[in-house]
Amino acid sequence: MESRLLEILVCPVCKSSLRYDRQRQELVCRADRLAFPIRDGVPILLEGEAREINPASRTSSEPPPSGDEGAETSQPDSRS
Ligand SMILES: [Zn+2]
Repeated sequence: MESRLLEILVCPVCKSSLRYDRQRQELVCRADRLAFPIRDGVPILLEGEAREINPASRTSSEPPPSGDEGAETSQPDSRS
């Protein structure tokens, strides 16, 4: 993903610039709290394809606080 390409990518809903989430491979509009997927390097800037971001779950790279050892998350981890 070229950073140059990101400069021209705007939210199809509010036309504001998008933030690239490298980990999730998504383009995030913070204003609308929508995350647009990137498939095979192609950003899918369609409102219907966007994922709603839960305000409770942070989109930063910080791991959730420990203490929830019983709850298994379904997100694929980078352990190998
Ligand atoms: Zn937007």
